[in-house]
Formats: sequence, structure tokens, C-alpha cells
Amino acid sequence: MTALPFDNSYARLPERFYARQPPTPVAAPRLVRLNRALAAELGLDPDWLAGPDGVAALAGNAVPEGADPIAAAYAGHQFGQFVPQLGDGRAVLLGEVLDRTGQRRDIQLKGAGPTPFSRRGDGRAALGPVLREYLVSEAMAALGIPTTRALAAVTTGEPVVRETLLPGAVLTRVAASHIRVGTFQFFAVRGDVEGLRALADHVVARHYPEAASAANPYRALLEGVIAAQAELVARWLHVGFVHGVMNTDNMSIAGETIDYGPCAFLDAYDPGTVFSSIDRNGRYAYGQQPRIALWNLTRLAETLLPLLAEDEAGSVAEAEAALASYAARFETAYHGGLARKLGLAETRDGDAALAGDLLKRMAENRADFTLTFRTLCAAAERPEADAGVRDLFVDPTAYDAWAKDWRGRLAQEARDPAETAAAMRRVNPAFIPRNHRVEAMIEAAVERGDFAPFETLLTVLSRPYVDQPDQAAFAMAPEDGGVGYRTFCGT
Ligand code: AMP
Ligand code: MG
Ligand code: MG
Repeated sequence: MTALPFDNSYARLPERFYARQPPTPVAAPRLVRLNRALAAELGLDPDWLAGPDGVAALAGNAVPEGADPIAAAYAGHQFGQFVPQLGDGRAVLLGEVLDRTGQRRDIQLKGAGPTPFSRRGDGRAALGPVLREYLVSEAMAALGIPTTRALAAVTTGEPVVRETLLPGAVLTRVAASHIRVGTFQFFAVRGDVEGLRALADHVVARHYPEAASAANPYRALLEGVIAAQAELVARWLHVGFVHGVMNTDNMSIAGETIDYGPCAFLDAYDPGTVFSSIDRNGRYAYGQQPRIALWNLTRLAETLLPLLAEDEAGSVAEAEAALASYAARFETAYHGGLARKLGLAETRDGDAALAGDLLKRMAENRADFTLTFRTLCAAAERPEADAGVRDLFVDPTAYDAWAKDWRGRLAQEARDPAETAAAMRRVNPAFIPRNHRVEAMIEAAVERGDFAPFETLLTVLSRPYVDQPDQAAFAMAPEDGGVGYRTFCGT
């Protein structure tokens, strides 16, 4: 048996889809972290991966048997500006494996050296962003949100030049695929309809097999992506996640969260929150994300016009009808999730307004997003626990007025309060990757070579819905509510 049983379907697509590109070896690879559970899920041998041959493969120093390394071509809208050629500038797809459930998964090295798509970049990644992506993507997975995964992180023993010299690292990323809205744009802008069709057929077979038997498979594909993204963005909002750089090249066709550059989680609730230092106009603010997802999906629909019908008018009608499904998909997912966060298993008129009223009061009172919903779980069971929620509001009476309505609504539920509280604890996490904790973790690793905080955070965040009394400090909000926190694009 080969250590990595690759089957590389993307590398079998036409040559113009990618550049063949082996990873560039590094000076002194050292394994920082191997995700043994994920390795097992992928049918890989964790002991081999942790050994010298495995670490060489994870660092890009050896190309494992069966790999067919490529850098994928794609285009994309970056902050609304179209760039006809982007592509994997610092990532190399080693190949694909079929996991234990038979699902095809990409194994990609991020920070593996220059490619023909690197433009002015060095093709490398710094340790800090690698640890951030590892931690946050694994936290998202534990929260139950579709995401790329982190299989391993290695340090390279080489510095990367940023504003200062920083230790370099390589992340091994696992994805359902790395095909993006921008991949479709790459072919559309070139008028390459044959390429577009080959890509669409690949995506249907790989991610939306039910679309193959639909009356119009490409319309069904578009609707599949729309449904997956509407659901995904709703789930981001439910946990206070701000992606930060929702460019079309960072939107996955498979519906996974991808590209953990400047992402961060809300502390105090404010729908206008922007963390990314380069997002000066707030294009990708927390509350803008549903609208931006639709904007990106509209760009996807445009690329599919040549495939949707025989004539232009017919294609536009198909695209518009598919895009019209987004709003209802999003609303259903978003309001359904909010109702569950409030402990409502049944549906009543006024539920969305009740949730909206709470969010408005939270914003006005700088209430911590995660703590508000988590403390509500206890309050659903014991009104005495209201004290823990109301303390989170600048004006605690703003909570009291809302809580009266909420209790009235909870009284209409058939479930008993203990059941309601338990169900709420399954959807309202106690632990998210708090920005101040992530920063402290990165500083310890980068400045002092101390990876203990990384390990601790990973362990705590692997069980986000479980109270962990000895780790209660990791559930706490920063003293200042996180005001002014800034992130920088993952470089
Ligand atoms: P991102 O903002 O991470 O989505 O990256 C946008 C584009 O820049 C992608 O095509 C990346 O591959 C490329 N890129 C980012 N950082 C680097 C780097 N250090 N070297 C080469 N290309 C990069
Ligand atoms: Mg990207
Ligand atoms: Mg990135």
C-alpha cells in the first residue's frame, strides 16, 4: 500500500486548468502538529505522516508516490475589482484521496513555494497565519460548520520576509475541492466555453451528482451552489464569524468555508464589525455577508450563461430564476438557526421579530455575542440565571424587557425547560476562537517557540458546546469587548 493513495481527478482535466508544479523544498522541516483524527478519517496512516518520510511530504521536500502536484488557475473579483488571472500563488495541490466515507478530498500544501501564479509573492507562508488557519478551521469543523480542514503544520527552518523576518511554515489543507467561483470566472473571461463545460461537468460529478439527472443540469448545479452558500453564510452569522475577504476567488463551489486570512469572531455584537485592515469600506462587514454571498453567486451565474440555455434570453431567465431562490434559502436557514439559538423548536409568527429585537438590544448595549446566547441556555431553565445574561448589557433593563417576551414565547413550547436548555447548549457554543486568545497563541509560538497555548486552545475548541469548567477563562470576552481589533491578510 502506498502511504497516500492518491487518485487525481483534477490533474486529469485539460492542461489549461493548472500548471504542473512540484513544491519547493525547505531547509529544515519540523512537524508542529499533525491532525491524527483527520488523518484516520482520510484513511491515511498517522504514524507514517509523523515519521521522516511523512514530514518530508508535508513540507514539500519529497513528492510522495502517486502525487501529481499542480497549481490551479483561477480568476476573481477582489473587493469588487475583477482580476482575470490569480491562481494558486503559494499553494500546491498534491492530489486527491477518497476518505473513509468514499468522499473525494483535496490534499494541498499552502506555503509550498512559488508557482507560475505567484505574481510578486514569494509563494511562502508565515507561521502565525498558518497556526491561525489551523486553529480556526478546526474550530469551525468542531462547531459543525462546513470548512476546509487542517491536516498538518510544519515549520520550514527558513524565514519569510514580511514587514519583519518571520518564521516560515507550511499548512496541509484538506478540502472537498479547491474549486472556486473564480475558477469558473477564469474560463468565462477567456470565452472558453469548452473549458467551462468541462469544469461544470467535473463539479456536477464531484459535488452535485443529483444535478446530473435534472432537466437542466447546469441550472441545478447553480442552485446547488446557491443553496450551499446560503446555508453556509447563515451558519457563520449564528456563531459571529466574519470571513473578512469574501472575494469570488475565496468562495468555494462545494460550500465550505475557505481561506482563513483576516477572519475573526465577534466579541461585542455589532453587525457593522469589520476586522480586516484592508477592508476600508466595510464591504465584508459581519452583517454584509449575506448580501456579498449573493453578489458572488451572481458572478457565478454570469459565467454559466453559455451553458444554461440555447439562447441568451433563455439563459438569463434561468440564471435569474436560480438566483431568486437565494433569499428564501438564506432567510430559512438564518431564522431557523436563530430560533434554535433561542430554544424554539416550534415555529410561530413573531419568532423572527423576537430574535431581531434581541439582536438590536445586544448591539445597542455592546453585549458579547457568544456569551449572551450561551448564558441564555441556563436562563431558559432557571429565571434566576437571568442575572448572568443581563450583566452583559450596558443597560441591563434592555434585556429584562426582551426576556419577558421570550419567556412568554417559551411557555408555548411543548418541551420542558431542561430539554430546551440542553438543545440550546447544542447550538450556542461556550467556546469560540476568541481573538485575544488567538493573538496570544500566535505570539507565544512565533516570539518564544512556545506551542503549548496552541495545543491548549485546540483542545478546548474541539468541544465548543461542552462546558469545560476548568477552561472557563477561554470562554470569557476580552476586557474591552474587543474594540478596535484588527486582522491582516494571511501572509
Ligand atoms: P488571498 O487574499 O489569500 O485570497 O490571496 C489572493 C491571491 O494572492 C491568491 O492567488 C494567492 O495565491 C496569492 N498570494 C497570496 N499570498 C501569496 C504569496 N506569499 N506568494 C504568492 N502568492 C500569494
Ligand atoms: Mg484566496
Ligand atoms: Mg489567503
